[in-house]
Amino acid sequence: MSILKIQNLSKTYSNGVKALNDVSLEIPKGLFGLLGPNGAGKSTLMRTIATLQEADSGSIELNGLDVINDKMGVKRNLGYLPQEFGFHPKETAFSFLNHFCMLKGITDKSSRQELVESLLQRVNLWDARKQRLGTFSGGMKQRLGIAQALIGNPGLIIVDEPTAGLDPEERVRFHNLLSEIGENVVVLLSTHIVDDVSDLCPQMAIINKGEIVFTGNTGEAIDVMKAQIWEKPIEKTSLDEYRSRYHILSTRLFAGRHYIRIFQAESPGGDFIPVDAKLEDVYFKHLERGINNPVAG
Ligand code: ADP
Repeated sequence: MSILKIQNLSKTYSNGVKALNDVSLEIPKGLFGLLGPNGAGKSTLMRTIATLQEADSGSIELNGLDVINDKMGVKRNLGYLPQEFGFHPKETAFSFLNHFCMLKGITDKSSRQELVESLLQRVNLWDARKQRLGTFSGGMKQRLGIAQALIGNPGLIIVDEPTAGLDPEERVRFHNLLSEIGENVVVLLSTHIVDDVSDLCPQMAIINKGEIVFTGNTGEAIDVMKAQIWEKPIEKTSLDEYRSRYHILSTRLFAGRHYIRIFQAESPGGDFIPVDAKLEDVYFKHLERGINNPVAG
């Protein structure tokens, strides 16, 4: 059963930018990745689901609630970690969460204290509970943001670009926390980082230029490209020549050399090496759809 059902959602900003173009999506239980480049429309979609802004047309249903017309009901069912949230640098983690609990209507002091303490433990910030937020690392801030999103036991948690700017160790820690939460709650993770989705999300969608260009099972999407990815180091100057002959998905630098990654069923021969398909290949292949068929307007 899908928890979140988005149908034909469109949004054009007053400057004429069409941020969402007829977006339809069903989010089932578990961790769901919404992957797309910067400017694809992810935040617009996240903010619309979180009732912070409105679409021009379309509908969103969360656990049977109409998101457009029942904002209060939806807010009770939803936790949201925005790309950036404001806090006072002199405030402590404890007082920050205590304040959010009050805003969410937990008026009884002792149950509030109990909840804040359990949240701090859950996101592994207990030892830092008296520390000022101004001294927190990026990863600690994000974990505090997740704690805030968990208040009230929402059925859906939305996290917008949560790992951008985290160092590798913090990222792993944050991934572990999200996957723990994803065991009980639906987590909608928006990101431009392919590895976030391949590490965490069994189900996913790719958004480009306001359109959903792929939705489905992450593992299956990779399997479809199995045994069709080939790689080879080339001279940078010959890139255009290769581009005209092969379906190049991506290029990368490794140890100072340029590598191309191509997609084709039959072996290209020469010194191309067969390599395992990755989610990145799926991503680049589907992004091309948006490039070849640009969104009208
Ligand atoms: P993403 O989160 O994928 O980076 P956004 O939803 O932030 O994408 O933006 C989608 C498009 O809408 C971009 O072209 C962006 O510049 C534009 N956009 C976002 N917010 C506004 C706004 N408030 N006014 C005008 N254009 C906006």
